[in-house]
Amino acid sequence: MDKQQEYVLRAIEERDIRFIRLWFTDVLGLLKSVAIAPAELESAFAEGIGFDGSAIEGLSRVSEADMLARPDPATFQVLPWRGDQRGTARMFCDILTPDGQPAAADSRNVLKRALAKASDLGFAYYTHPEVEFYLFHTPESASGPLVPVDEAGYFDHVARGTGHDFRRAAISLLESMGISVEYSHHEAGPGQNEIDLRYADALSTADNIMTFRTVVKEVALDQGIMASFMPKPLSGQPGSGMHTHLSLFEGDTNAFYDPSGRYALSSTGRKFIAGLLRHSAEITAVTNQFVNSYKRLWGGGEAPSYICWGHNNRSALVRVPMYKPGKSQSARVEYRGLDSAANPYLSYALLLAAGLKGIEEDYELPDEAEDNVWDLSDSERRALGIAPLPNNLQDALELMERSELVAETLGESVFEFFLRNKRREWSEYRAQVTPYEVSKFLRAL
Ligand code: GLN
Ligand code: MG
Ligand code: MG
Ligand code: MG
Repeated sequence: MDKQQEYVLRAIEERDIRFIRLWFTDVLGLLKSVAIAPAELESAFAEGIGFDGSAIEGLSRVSEADMLARPDPATFQVLPWRGDQRGTARMFCDILTPDGQPAAADSRNVLKRALAKASDLGFAYYTHPEVEFYLFHTPESASGPLVPVDEAGYFDHVARGTGHDFRRAAISLLESMGISVEYSHHEAGPGQNEIDLRYADALSTADNIMTFRTVVKEVALDQGIMASFMPKPLSGQPGSGMHTHLSLFEGDTNAFYDPSGRYALSSTGRKFIAGLLRHSAEITAVTNQFVNSYKRLWGGGEAPSYICWGHNNRSALVRVPMYKPGKSQSARVEYRGLDSAANPYLSYALLLAAGLKGIEEDYELPDEAEDNVWDLSDSERRALGIAPLPNNLQDALELMERSELVAETLGESVFEFFLRNKRREWSEYRAQVTPYEVSKFLRAL
């Protein structure tokens, strides 16, 4: 047993932990959990806990259903909302095949593989997400009308607002679990909020996002309201994005920083952006994985629709934020395409792979977009070489299917499961007659 595992066993004794939840994430980014008794933990560390993977989305084919979940002791945290006595703790797990190999369909492993490739090139990869979500009064049924908890907007201070209490409670829980929060505020939509996590290595951030979603749901339940990370819950109101700031470090040095570069961006940083842009359309099926995601991308509300980069340009897909003089650590690029329902492991792996490709193959960065690209006409955009993101899930899947970069990064089994699963989602969706159509056509035609 190594030092970290020993530390976990000691902490469990000292803190009276009676339940240990083993967490992992399915291919679609949903959290799965199995609780074990402390007495099982030593063998869980040694060889993993067996479970039937065939019932979990994307995890295994029925013929090879046995899987092992092995907890990562570095992720041990007590779940504060479960109370101090007879407490509950959790660890994220790696998923293994019965012979102890990393399971091909484990999202966390997809990211680990991408990180190992970056590390071979000398880079460590850091991310920091800005997570947006809505707070609603709990609807009476799944199709019941959605009523946001307030009518406030961007950065509004709401006296005695539900959002304040909510953010305060959620942030306290996150901080007590070792997840640092940098900013939080009311977002532009009614009942819409944003919480920004401090930057960390990408594997920790992806784990933190999974924890974040759980904490936000727990706090909402506790306050008698409902939180949702659905990309676009209300037509006519902004969707919920998960803009993510990305940087590469070589040792202690930020590889994106160069004081003599435009916006203090190094040539490595420029090539990374060029990679993000060139591969953005083919990775969109993963960064924006639901039929609803495209309602956000094409529904205004400051979500990006076109493939371009800029500095202070909120219409750009990739933005180079203002550089804080003297803080070389803060040089970074912001990818604004992701939505709050993305699988963070797969999405961060693909963003990394796209950026690295730009570095490895010396991609040239196109000119930055200085206009609001939504206001240009199609032919103006074409003249500037600015292409659209996919219009819907079907178009995104077609681009993904032809992508070597996505196939290689996800690995064959995730790649194929994902395409199959999402094609089914598209055909189910396409078969629906929507309330919109009924109200528009039933009487008129
Ligand atoms: N909600 C917007 C999106 O979906 C972002 C708004 C903002 O943070 N400026 O991307
Ligand atoms: Mg923000
Ligand atoms: Mg925001
Ligand atoms: Mg942002």
